[in-house]
Amino acid sequence: MSTQQSAPEPGPQSVKGPRINKGLVIVNTGNGKGKTTAAMGVLFRAWGRDMKVTMLQFIKHTTANFGEQRAAQKIGVTVRAMGDGFTWRSQDLEQSADLARALWEDAKEIIATGGYDVVILDEFTYPMHYGWIPVEDVVEVLRNRPDMLHVIITGRHAPEGLVEFADLVTEMNVVKHPYHSGIKAQPGIEF
Ligand code: ATP
Ligand code: MG
Repeated sequence: MSTQQSAPEPGPQSVKGPRINKGLVIVNTGNGKGKTTAAMGVLFRAWGRDMKVTMLQFIKHTTANFGEQRAAQKIGVTVRAMGDGFTWRSQDLEQSADLARALWEDAKEIIATGGYDVVILDEFTYPMHYGWIPVEDVVEVLRNRPDMLHVIITGRHAPEGLVEFADLVTEMNVVKHPYHSGIKAQPGIEF
């Protein structure tokens, strides 16, 4: 029997010594599935601890009534969708930009004064990626947020400035996706 045990590899940013307690800026990005649902997993976990949680959805249509909106309503969590559908299908990108900027105005107030523990900005990378909302403004608001507030941002193409500022960045990679095998979106899994 071998007595050798390999310790877990420390991550590249591992530090020794006492660790601090602070709210995190979390970014779920990449082309694979799981960015929004991972954020919702945190929402569920934090809600279970009686933490105050909310999700603002930047691209999803105001009329969206997916599983997550239904669940949120049942458990009394505010999930607000304020987009006009997926942008690559949008007829009027100026309108999409205006909607995103309007929701960002609300988000800033919620972040600064909302008394939340976890705020999710779902698909918020797109308004930054398309240049509708300056990344510097976002980083500034995040920098000045309440100390213990966790903010989770999801979406592909996370801008560099945001990745640099964030505490936790995960990139989802596609290995297989049922869409490529002609399988349609399944309720409860996709929406
Ligand atoms: P989820 O909401 O399931 O966590 P996501 O937030 O990572 O997914 P988005 O980039 O927001 O995914 O994409 C929205 C939709 O596109 C999802 O229904 C997802 O399954 C689908 N999707 C994600 N990645 C791919 C892919 N590589 N090919 C085809 N469809 C995809
Ligand atoms: Mg998503």
